[in-house]
Amino acid sequence: METTGAEPKLRPGQLWIDGKAVAGTSGQKIDVINPATGELLTTVERGGPEDVDRAVKAARRAFEDGPWPRLNPSERSKLLWRIGELIDAHRDELARLESLNTGKTLKGALRGDLKPAADIFYYYAGWARHLHSEVIPVDGPFLNYTLREPMGVVGMITAWNYPLLLAAWKIAPALATGNTCVVKPSELTPLTTLRLAELCQEAGVPPGVVNVVTGYGAEAGEALGRHLDVDKIAFTGSIRTARALMKASGESNLKRLSLELGGKSPNIIFPDADLEAAIPAAFWAIYANKGEVCSAGSRLLLHERIHDQFLERLVDKARKMRVGDPLDPKTEMGAQISQAQLDRILGYIQSGKAEGAKLLCGGERDTEGDKARGFFVQPTIFAEVKPQMKIAQEEIFGPVLATMKFHDEDEAVAIANGTIYGLVSAIWTREIQRAHRLARQIKAGVVWINTYNGFDSAAPFGGYKQSGFGREMGMHALESYTQVKSVWVAL
Ligand code: NAD
Repeated sequence: METTGAEPKLRPGQLWIDGKAVAGTSGQKIDVINPATGELLTTVERGGPEDVDRAVKAARRAFEDGPWPRLNPSERSKLLWRIGELIDAHRDELARLESLNTGKTLKGALRGDLKPAADIFYYYAGWARHLHSEVIPVDGPFLNYTLREPMGVVGMITAWNYPLLLAAWKIAPALATGNTCVVKPSELTPLTTLRLAELCQEAGVPPGVVNVVTGYGAEAGEALGRHLDVDKIAFTGSIRTARALMKASGESNLKRLSLELGGKSPNIIFPDADLEAAIPAAFWAIYANKGEVCSAGSRLLLHERIHDQFLERLVDKARKMRVGDPLDPKTEMGAQISQAQLDRILGYIQSGKAEGAKLLCGGERDTEGDKARGFFVQPTIFAEVKPQMKIAQEEIFGPVLATMKFHDEDEAVAIANGTIYGLVSAIWTREIQRAHRLARQIKAGVVWINTYNGFDSAAPFGGYKQSGFGREMGMHALESYTQVKSVWVAL
């Protein structure tokens, strides 16, 4: 999977099962495309149910008979730390691979993908030694204590926007708590996940603990979701697939689920806010990673007193934004992930126009120069958006901002809470009571006050409502990867 120099030569990716690169059963391949050029990067195996079964068997053997769940906490901790170090050591290679495969900027990949991907392993290296249990005061002559045990074999299914990071957010807590896993990355972006599995092995993780099956959702993903020997699925992706996984779990073995889904997140600016901070933050809230971010601040709610000046400055920034070659250090926004995603985004722009929103800038595919080969979209801002419009309700997952005017706090909260989603939110105000009052009223798993996109391996991340359940990161994710046993001893 390594890239060599400026002209990357990518080897075709194989499945990673039981510590080895192996061919898929079907013999069929999936093309992996560079979204900035439309060119073929390489191919990976089109894994299917038989491959998933092979990988699950390897993970089960590693769990039941292998050393992993029985390893001393200090040894497991060192291995996790070592994975973090290897990610850091290979950061340039991995960032380049991620940029080539996702269309995100190289500098964005280094900062927003590689750094937190290494850090999550450092963070859970600590937790591997801190999985304390409890002694519970019970009536009678008994000692009651709890054991926190791994779930077993965890299936992990990830989306294409942060492929390495989403896998790392799942693998690190799963390994820290003694699980084994089978990862099914998005068919669009499998390359860094395959590379991560190799690095886990290089760090000393035994064969079978981390397996990767590349393939389509309806084939490999569905097979993992229905497999009778998978104990849990950790999923990042769309609501539609989450529903399919819940159904598959219900119809198979009631496997546990944690679901990180989409968002339509409100970024609320009050008139007393520090606009010098809020304007660039609102800009990056929507345009970071070309809007393909579950936590994108895709609904900007502006108080009527600052509405016009805020938008004027935001539009000016959007018009000047440098969109283009993701590998160029001067580029601020790269390419959308695929033709299908490009069409979807343009469809939403059409719907915004048709429903009467006012297009302030952008609104078209960007085909200037070399960009015609790839999937680029102009940074787009709509004003006069009504809360019930499609572009205010549905996740676009692209560089399209819906802005709305409000006139008081109650109206802002009502608009903010008026979608099926509840992933993140932000409030900009200098009034301390208002900030904390709204932090309670907004139905979202994350509330940022006078900041946006604050992430840390130690802080929980996840959704309310249809943005999912279960939490990534922090001590909260440990709950998702363990089960509690209550032990009674007669005294
Ligand atoms: P998707 O649901 O189409 O695909 C996600 C993964 O599920 C892929 O690996 C896909 O192959 C697989 N899959 C598809 N159908 C399946 C099935 N029937 N059974 C099992 N697996 C199946 O989503 P996407 O288009 O890749 O990603 C975009 C979505 O992900 C957006 O809604 C976005 O908000 C969400 N997302 C959420 C977070 C978060 O942390 N909350 C992070 C990134 C992306």
